[in-house]
Amino acid sequence: MFTKKKACSYLVQTKELYGNVLYTAQKKSSARLRDFPIETKNQNIKILNDYEISICACQKCQLGKSRTNFVFGSGDPRASLMLIGEAPGEYEDKKGEPFVGKSGDLLDKILSAININRENGVFISNVLKCRPPDNRNPLVSEISKCEPYLSAQVNIIKPRLIVALGKVAGKTLTQLDVPLKAMREKTYYYNEIPVRVTYHPSALLRDPTLKTDAWEDFKWIKNFLINYD
Ligand code: URA
Repeated sequence: MFTKKKACSYLVQTKELYGNVLYTAQKKSSARLRDFPIETKNQNIKILNDYEISICACQKCQLGKSRTNFVFGSGDPRASLMLIGEAPGEYEDKKGEPFVGKSGDLLDKILSAININRENGVFISNVLKCRPPDNRNPLVSEISKCEPYLSAQVNIIKPRLIVALGKVAGKTLTQLDVPLKAMREKTYYYNEIPVRVTYHPSALLRDPTLKTDAWEDFKWIKNFLINYD
């Protein structure tokens, strides 16, 4: 166990060695994750937190009135990988976090299969930050008002790869209105960051036969992150 006392003496030791720049131990992972000095990470946490505070009372569309929580997104502020879903559902709206329902459980399993967890290496968010009533599809007007928030998040986090989960995220990030199947296995760009599109976890829950293709997509993602220079 890394107790508070041990942590303090570790900090004192590393301060003696490296000054104020603290290097954290690299987590063993088959998907190569970026390792930043803690100061750089903290700086990004602050920028992201400040940005969240500046937008979390948004009333640009009617969803601002019906939401319980504004779901900004969560995860590693210097993530290599950003996952983008459609919009918060009932559980996400209640908890204020993305993908915490059944589809979130499946997403966690998929991520752990490529050695990534929510705390390290990934930031998860949605195209819409507020829940559409009864989980109806997002309106075009809602997407166009909310998408600048996603764009700003991408510019702050600067991931190596963005993965759009499902048709709504795929369409928003690629500007293509084609079936999801046709969006897969190609690389697009959003704010100059590579984008891949795969199935939404709730589609995989509805139709488990899609899991084979989704697994191919996540193997590609894992390799991309390992091989990225
Ligand atoms: N579906 C989404 O697209 N996003 C969530 O956060 C939860 C379910």
